[in-house]
Amino acid sequence: MTVTLDNVRRVFGDGSDKVVAVDGIDLTIDDGEFVTLVGPSGCGKTTTLRCVSGLDTPTDGTITFNDRDVTDLPPQQRDIALLFQDIALYPHMSVRDNMAYGLKIAGEPKSQRYEKVQDAAELLQITDQLDKSPASLSGGQQQRVALGRSLVRDPTVFLFDEPMSDLDAKLKRELRPIVEQVTDQIGCPVLYVTHDQEEAMTLSDRVAVMNDGELEQVGKPKEVYDNPVSEFVASFIGQPTTQFFDGEVVERDGSLRVAVGDHEYSVERAGNVLRSYAGQPVRVGIRPQYMSVEEDPEAGIPATHMLDEPLGDETHSIFETPFGEVTVVTHADFEGKKGEYGLVIDPERVMLFDPETGDRVGRSTAVREKAAGA
Ligand code: ADP
Ligand code: MG
Repeated sequence: MTVTLDNVRRVFGDGSDKVVAVDGIDLTIDDGEFVTLVGPSGCGKTTTLRCVSGLDTPTDGTITFNDRDVTDLPPQQRDIALLFQDIALYPHMSVRDNMAYGLKIAGEPKSQRYEKVQDAAELLQITDQLDKSPASLSGGQQQRVALGRSLVRDPTVFLFDEPMSDLDAKLKRELRPIVEQVTDQIGCPVLYVTHDQEEAMTLSDRVAVMNDGELEQVGKPKEVYDNPVSEFVASFIGQPTTQFFDGEVVERDGSLRVAVGDHEYSVERAGNVLRSYAGQPVRVGIRPQYMSVEEDPEAGIPATHMLDEPLGDETHSIFETPFGEVTVVTHADFEGKKGEYGLVIDPERVMLFDPETGDRVGRSTAVREKAAGA
């Protein structure tokens, strides 16, 4: 089974009330592939998922399951499993009967139903909960029951809409490997929706980063992290987020460099693309792991220490600079003193973006730092 979205668009309302929730999305989810739609609240994730489920219908575009056009089919005719944040279990039924209910409706004999439920419960580690009533379970356990209910039905497409957003960090970490096991076992295409980039990065074969109704980038988590195609993706993926500086492309002795304040970086891999930016502003992005803090303010971008957030294994240190607040990942035992530091950028990790469009400039990385005029 392969799920294909071809130029899917969904517009709500008209005139001044018109909202383009989904603005022409192309996406393919292969059999057994786990794809996550990730983006900020309101970017169109739920609307996209609802169109795939059949709960909503695109204004334009088509959705196909293999070669079958399902764009206008109701959910019942799509053989999908759908998991939401709100878990609607039947309160008067035991956990076992909740999990078996879909099979009962489908006419499976009781012994077979219970056997499948037993297998699912083992995978989900809830065999000791089967005789309980759902109300007595924690949120995380209820979500396992909901997963089990879908698992026993062996759906052809699995859809999730923020199933973990009600759970605390510890429960999320416990549930993630279970979601992976369940979806692996079913082996169908999975479309998972979340606003949580960490969840997307840890669960997915590929992530589809969505912004304002459009897909900005689709790729393996590491690809998207290492090579974001836009300022939006660079700032949305990764925690703490990519830091940005307003720079300028300057030409000196026939070669192009990127200047950030008094510091210049010679650019190699940006190549010819950079020529069109000569004399123009450019956005300079750097992940906070790739900056170091020097005691000498002249050594880098001048920065006043504001605050340290010790996390145990590392510290997030926040500085005030002429370019705004900047976060740097420092050592676990770093404690900033009052006064000025210099923030040194690892030039090999620099990413350049067009200030107007936010698009990445080449697959740019700057190399070697040089003081201005050197
Ligand atoms: P997300 O799930 O990423 O938070 P949604 O898909 O829920 O985003 O919403 C995308 C946009 O579409 C939002 O601006 C939202 O207000 C709008 N929207 C969603 N559903 C409707 C609806 N039924 N009627 C009007 N606007 C809607
Ligand atoms: Mg949503």
